This record gives sequence, structure tokens and C-alpha cells, in this order.
Amino acid sequence: MSKLVGVPTVGMIGGGQLARMTHQAGIALGVNFRLLAEGQDVSAAQVVRDVQVGDYRDLRTLRTFVAGCDVVTFDHEHVPTEHLHRLEADGVVCRPGPDALVYAQDKGAMRDRLTALGLPCPRYRAVRNQDDLDVVAKALGGWPVVLKTARGGYDGKGVWVIDNAYAGDIGEIFAAGQPLIAEERVDFARELSAVVARSPSGQAIAYPIVESVQRGGVCYEVIAPAPGLPEDRAVEAQRIALRIAGELGVVGILAVELFETRDGRVLVNELAMRPHNTGHWSIDGAVTSQFENHLRAILDLPLGSPRPRAPWTVMVNILGGPYADMHKGFLHCQARDPDLRIHLYGKEVRPGRKVGHVTAYGADLDDVRARARHAAAYLTGEIDE
Ligand code: ADP
Repeated sequence: MSKLVGVPTVGMIGGGQLARMTHQAGIALGVNFRLLAEGQDVSAAQVVRDVQVGDYRDLRTLRTFVAGCDVVTFDHEHVPTEHLHRLEADGVVCRPGPDALVYAQDKGAMRDRLTALGLPCPRYRAVRNQDDLDVVAKALGGWPVVLKTARGGYDGKGVWVIDNAYAGDIGEIFAAGQPLIAEERVDFARELSAVVARSPSGQAIAYPIVESVQRGGVCYEVIAPAPGLPEDRAVEAQRIALRIAGELGVVGILAVELFETRDGRVLVNELAMRPHNTGHWSIDGAVTSQFENHLRAILDLPLGSPRPRAPWTVMVNILGGPYADMHKGFLHCQARDPDLRIHLYGKEVRPGRKVGHVTAYGADLDDVRARARHAAAYLTGEIDE
């Protein structure tokens, strides 16, 4: 592929919708985009021209892929950090780097580090044996506790709320031999998210704190900014995220999922070091999207304004429902609401799978939320008028 003078090449590992939307931002910036995809037909591979299909767990595949990339970044956090250390030793620029990324991969390491930094987290313990659970629960303030796999969980998979040491399938979870942590079950009023971007030069920006609504462990709706959040709590949440980004040396987007407790505290739940579902609203709702700011950050360019374009923006995920044909509802939704923004990821519809999102914005929260919810429900076939 011919290369224009001065134009950097970004290598993205992982071909999901986050890569697809980052590519979209990269088109506007005129950067070259290379993709290491899991398959020829995955979401981003459908639209990127320079695609290598291969396994991100294989060092030789990674080495072939990174040749010619000025910077390498990620659609997910699963690339083994030992491989990334090897690539860095070869002179490859990985952003975020493995020393930061490990805290998005391993919830135990993340809890240890954030607690050492004095940042507010739920109480937690590493657990090795099922028989230790009673003692652990006591240390966490009693049952129920939340048991989590330290690695590999997503969308609520790898998270179990348990009422006693021998409930349900817990024996099987321990038998699998994976590292586990137990946390106090936080009595939260709602879940918030702080999305920030940080560049290697140390410049950082913070998006408004948003509320994220989960259904069955999957993000359903995001409201920007979080309604009714007191100013000082919002600033505290932004400060926590900026501090984590600085202390851990994150480059690119960092999303910090937070619990807002009923007694008005914010606690860190988990970290993602890539564009995040709770930042999708920014494509249509902010001056600079999280995808563009991720690219600007990893290329060490000045970051763009995270300022919202409207008082309220609501993003609702399109989760696979009864209709396989997502395009079918366009006529109705677009005719009904010309201000609505629909994004589809080119993914085959399967029940509950994230296949797209819709965004609405405006001055009246109830109206904005109703419009976004209606469109998502109509497109999936949940409602038909
Ligand atoms: P995942 O890796 O699947 O995103 P999370 O750690 O974010 O896992 O947990 C998924 C969901 O489980 C959270 O969004 C929250 O609703 C719930 N949850 C997780 N940890 C706790 C906790 N300590 N107390 C209460 N609820 C929790």
C-alpha cells in the first residue's frame, strides 16, 4: 500500500465495532489504518482496506502485523502483555503499553494498585479455595459477596453474586482453577462512567461523567451527563479517572466504570483502556468523539474538546432481538425522527449481542431518552409502532 508523506500508520489489534468506529474517525484524520482481525468478516474487517487475519495470541503473527505501523493500539484488552513487552523491546510503540494494560486485564492487580494509590474501591480479597469463602465474606462485611474471575470476564460473564460458600455452581468455578477475587456487594444507587483521554506528552481531557444503565450485565443505555449528579461528585469522578490515567501511564482512552453509592460516594468498579461503550454517545453528542481522541492521544497530537453539543445526549445499544434485518426499521425511525443518529456495526444479529447503537440529543431529557429508546426497540423488533 502506498504511503503518503508524513501520514502515520495506526495498527489496530482486534476487529470489533470499536476498531470499526476508530477507523471511521481515522478516515477523517487521514491516517493509515491497519487491522489485525480475528476473521475476514468481523465488524472492522468489512470496512478496513489493509487487513491481516490472524491470532493476536501468536507472537509471530503480531510481529508480522506491526511491521510498518508507527503505533499499535487495541480494540480489546486480551493481547498477552508478555508479547507486548517483546514488541516494545523490538522498538514497536504500543499505546497503551503493557505496563498499563495489565490493570485492564487483571482485576486483582487493578484492585491492588488502585488501593495502594488510595483510590476508592469496593473491599476485596483474592480467594484461592472455596473453603476460605466464609472467612473472606466476614472480612468483606458479610454475605452476599461478588465473586469474579480476575481475568477474561466481560458483559457480566465471570461475575457471580453469591449468598453462601456452597451456593449453586461455585464448586465448578473453583475447580476451573482460575484466579478469583471476592468483593463486598456494593449497594449502589447507579453506575457511572468516567471516560478520559491521555497523551504521551501528558495532556489529558475528561468527558462529562455519564450514567450507564445495565440490563442483564450488558450496557443498555448511557445518559450524558449523568442526571442529577452533584457537581462536586462529578468533578471527583473525573479526578479519579485522570489520576488513574496519569499514575498507570495510560495512553489513549481510559474508561473507569464507577458505582455511585446510596450514601453519595463513588467507587471504582473496573477499567478499560480503549474506547468504551459508555463513550459512544460522544460520536454525535460531543465536539470530539472518544474514537478521534483515542487516535489523537496515541499519535501524541493535541486532544480535541470533549464538550457536549447539547444539554442531553442518550445512547441506547441495539441488542439483537427478534429481527435479523436491522435495516428494515430505518424507514420508520428516520422518517419519524430526522435528528436521530443510527449506527450499525455490520454484525449478524444474535440474541442480546451488541449490533449497533442509536443516539439522540436535545434540551429535554425525557424526550431525548424516549426517542433513543423507541428507535432501539423498533429496530430490534421489540415494538412495531
Ligand atoms: P465485567 O467484566 O463483566 O464488565 P464487572 O466487574 O463490571 O464485570 O461486573 C459486571 C456487573 O456486575 C457490574 O456492572 C455491576 O452491575 C455488577 N457488580 C460488579 N461488581 C460488583 C460489586 N462489588 N457490587 C455490586 N455489584 C457489582
